[in-house]
Amino acid sequence: MEFLRLALDEARKCIPSPTAFCVGCVLTAAYPPDSQPVIISRGYSRELPGNTHAEANALAKARQLSQEELAVLFPSASRPIDIDTILTHADIYTTMEPCSVRTSGLSPCADAIIAARIKRCFIGVGEPDDFVKCEGAQKLKDAGVEVIWLSGLEKECLEVARMGREH
Ligand SMILES: [Zn+2]
Repeated sequence: MEFLRLALDEARKCIPSPTAFCVGCVLTAAYPPDSQPVIISRGYSRELPGNTHAEANALAKARQLSQEELAVLFPSASRPIDIDTILTHADIYTTMEPCSVRTSGLSPCADAIIAARIKRCFIGVGEPDDFVKCEGAQKLKDAGVEVIWLSGLEKECLEVARMGREH
């Protein structure tokens, strides 16, 4: 829940859009696997150039980390530290269900999470059918990603998602 709150902080950084949600996300990993999880990266909607999404941005930022930065995060990992290996031990916390369809033609976040072989996906709230019907959680499950619906912050996640809109 702590990480979902941090994801909500990310979502609040979004520049509101009338045609898109404001979503925040935090990527954590425990590596070696029995260690305490640390935050690898954070992301929010439209943070990186282009009509980008929170989850894809957090993944992109994780892949941009230097060896020095990774060594600080994962002091007992053997060098060189391979971010792709780290990601297979990662959890993603997102304020809203990762998208399964993108009307813009960009790659959906669910696909990016599956491709990175993220272990678990914690979700704050399901995507309402404001724009498209979202099947992200099902898509993740079908690909073997463990999906965990967190309860308690649904209202906040949805409110932030709809910032800058009427309802
Ligand atoms: Zn997305």
